[in-house]
Amino acid sequence: MGPQGSGKGTAAQELSNILKIPTISTGDLFRTEAASGSELGNRLKSIIDSGSLVPDELTVGILKQRLLQDDCKNGYMLDGFPRTMEQARLLENISQIDKVLYLDVDFDTVIERIGGRRTCPKCGHIHNVKFAGDPNYCSVCGTKYVVRADDTEEAIRKRLDTFTQKTLPIVEHFRQKGLVLSVDASRTPEYTLKQILKGLGK
Ligand code: AMP
Repeated sequence: MGPQGSGKGTAAQELSNILKIPTISTGDLFRTEAASGSELGNRLKSIIDSGSLVPDELTVGILKQRLLQDDCKNGYMLDGFPRTMEQARLLENISQIDKVLYLDVDFDTVIERIGGRRTCPKCGHIHNVKFAGDPNYCSVCGTKYVVRADDTEEAIRKRLDTFTQKTLPIVEHFRQKGLVLSVDASRTPEYTLKQILKGLGK
């Protein structure tokens, strides 16, 4: 968990390789459906692009389907879920939560970071033009990077507000249960990852 631009997606990609468990990003599941052009996809696209949250019922339905797939049977990591208290309760009913990683970073830093964020539309790789590397083409598969449609300043502010109001209380809920590993995510992606691995004893 962590605000938009805290580096959840980047850390999750690395952790998936190291821990050998899949990362399930509800944002990615929604973007895939949106790109399909289906009726549901079009509905999702307008919600996502405005920076609002997708309704809980729809989100949980799509996630549950994904968790039934074979690759999740030895565990999985969630990126961008849960985001509301209702989602947290549902997750606690359907799974055992081992750890909640919280990427701690202030909002000024993430607003600046999101401005430089590029995403590969093919493999999902995330890059920031502020860091070294080709700013135009994906370093993993060579596809041209895109700027996410919800990375406008207005949508970012809305998402950060929603994060404060709806998601931060869940972090507190998990903290009281002793599940939260909080790391300083204000520096580089490598630094964030190092602290996570240390905190997990890896
Ligand atoms: P993300 O890629 O995690 O930043 O998510 C992009 C967008 O997808 C969010 O701004 C929401 O519109 C939607 N979304 C992703 N995960 C959730 C969730 N758990 N609950 C509701 N909406 C979500």
